[in-house]
Amino acid sequence: MSATVNTVLGPTKASELGRTLVHEHVLIGFPGWFMDARQPAFNRREAVERVVDAFQELHGHGVRTVIDPCPMDLGRDVEICAEVSQKTGINLICATGAYVEDMGIPWTFKNLPVEAIAEAFIKEIERGVGDTGIRCGVIKIATGRGKVSDYERKVLTAASMAGKATGVPLISHTENCNCGHDQIDIATGRGLKYSRLIVGHSCGTDDHPYQKSLAERGAYVGFDRFGLEQEISDVIRTKNLKALVDAGHKDQILVSHDTVNCWAGAYGNTDPMELNKALPNWKMTHLFENIFPELKKMGMSQQDLDDITVENPRRYFEDAWAAVR
Ligand SMILES: [Zn+2]
Repeated sequence: MSATVNTVLGPTKASELGRTLVHEHVLIGFPGWFMDARQPAFNRREAVERVVDAFQELHGHGVRTVIDPCPMDLGRDVEICAEVSQKTGINLICATGAYVEDMGIPWTFKNLPVEAIAEAFIKEIERGVGDTGIRCGVIKIATGRGKVSDYERKVLTAASMAGKATGVPLISHTENCNCGHDQIDIATGRGLKYSRLIVGHSCGTDDHPYQKSLAERGAYVGFDRFGLEQEISDVIRTKNLKALVDAGHKDQILVSHDTVNCWAGAYGNTDPMELNKALPNWKMTHLFENIFPELKKMGMSQQDLDDITVENPRRYFEDAWAAVR
């Protein structure tokens, strides 16, 4: 039987998700974004219009599902996600969970026991976010630069407990392609199977052995920042994706762009519009317009690309769901 997946419009079957991008953001607002009172007020209507336009364009490329792994502390707005999903026919899957310590809002979880944090995540998965009734379908975890802080370890442990209790998979943020193995260690320490975790942002380094080592442990490897070329060029990302396929790990690759389709406030002192101008390929259609044709020239078939964008996301949800049943 196919797994049930929580979308913002209700449960669906993993087998019905179709072509899926695993890491795109409808809206991001960094903690305290509203404190920069110089910025224009957040305009919800304009925000929804902008995101709907982008999602409609994506629909034209056959994408039927998008995971928005915005954690609780980065301006997550599940009602905007539901409106976008309703208007575009694209399934949206939202996240519970928390961001890295130095860029998130750590005070509350620092002062809660790990069991209480797990209960909070489970509440958002089983009963929904606040009183919206919108239930989360993935759990976001995150680690910072170089080492996992005590706070991050606690949140990750709680996430693993919630994942084990609900059959909902984990999706991560890593900094500088560090700590992927720590994430796997902590998750599996709580009895999760490796395949229930996407080690996110693993494409931001020219380090095929690191990417391969994550796959060898059974984790999904996130090639999820195509277009973010200030980090590393897409030429290197594409080369390493193909190398991982050639090493026999096609089944463990998940792709996306980590776009931010709308910002609440600015990104620190940076105007997000300037950010978008500096990164012309940082958009949700980039894979289909530029990267997949390139991968085909390198010898990959349409079937390979369908396996990565349709079959792998389905299996990611089914593995997690089946493990607790
Ligand atoms: Zn992200």
